[in-house]
Amino acid sequence: MKISFPYMESPVVYYKIFEMLGHEVVIPPRPTQKTFKLGVKYSPEFSCFPLKVTLGNMIELHEMGVDTIFISGGYGPCRAGYYGPIQQQILNYIGLDVDVIIFEQVQDDWRDFLNNVRVLKQDASIYRLLRSVYTGYKISVSMDSILKLIHRMRPYARDKRRISELWKEIQQEYFYVKKIRDIKQIESRARRRIKAQEYDFAGENKRLRIGIVGEIYVVMEGSTNNYIDEMLNEMGVEVERSHYLSEYIESHMIPWKKNKYKHILDKGEKYLEIIIGGHAKQSIGHIVDYKERSFDGVVFLKPFGCLPEIISQSILDRVSQDLNIPILPLSIDEQLGRTHTQTRLEAFLDLARGKRRKKEKRSDIKGK
Ligand code: SF4
Repeated sequence: MKISFPYMESPVVYYKIFEMLGHEVVIPPRPTQKTFKLGVKYSPEFSCFPLKVTLGNMIELHEMGVDTIFISGGYGPCRAGYYGPIQQQILNYIGLDVDVIIFEQVQDDWRDFLNNVRVLKQDASIYRLLRSVYTGYKISVSMDSILKLIHRMRPYARDKRRISELWKEIQQEYFYVKKIRDIKQIESRARRRIKAQEYDFAGENKRLRIGIVGEIYVVMEGSTNNYIDEMLNEMGVEVERSHYLSEYIESHMIPWKKNKYKHILDKGEKYLEIIIGGHAKQSIGHIVDYKERSFDGVVFLKPFGCLPEIISQSILDRVSQDLNIPILPLSIDEQLGRTHTQTRLEAFLDLARGKRRKKEKRSDIKGK
């Protein structure tokens, strides 16, 4: 059995889990225009963009000899729950012999979950299974803490590209983790390497801070959004995202950590009383949270065909007016060009800067 999974931000976490269980794992390729084209060609036209990208990725994996693909399932009133079965049908229809194994949450169907666990663990002991999953989780926490540091520091770096290269090198190091203590060592070394770069913090108070919210796949997978976090950092702007892998794991798979994220849903309650699927309510909650933490603006990423985020987009104007925070909605599909994204961001940052100046003037006048 040659196994793999669709690419999302970094393959390290899933790779380590499968590898530690003794599987022959193929590292999925990062999506490119070729992936988008394959996905668009074989998916129903109005399916959401992440379905198309992951399908394209599955076809590429088949070309690399993979016969079993693990994906996480979904539930609730959005299409995530249909991903696996639809992708399996499409793969069968075009004659590719690949099994898609869908990991639903244990509470949805525990029998199905246990069956999948059996396939995943093969002959490994329960201890080895828990150890590999725990190692994967700890890697995700560690990598996210470094990524968050980069999101805050890169705008001040004299050589911003070097920080991006460094991040690629650091991610590679996590592939060699053997024990939990290796993770701490890699993380400390990574922090030292990042901090050793040259920075110019002179205009620190003047830097803008922008939040990125929206549907999880297009927020996390840079190839779909033209690496927007990197782009904003290169424009001298600090960023924070509404989604990081470790936080997804904690909020969806670790019952005792779920409460840590409840306040975000509560903050979205005023505008969206019910859960309408995807992360629509969280997106609104995060916008409120960013406003409370004095962020200068929010970029909202909505995949083409995404039903929940279409709903949250329809209330963005009201949220923006109520909170007096600029919000830039960007629709994500295979045609989103880099120059288009850059131009929209530049105009948006001008607006955010103007708002910041006005606010500072007002508080200067009050202070006199
Ligand atoms: S949240 Fe949107 S993009 Fe994601 S699976 Fe649901 S409908 Fe598709």
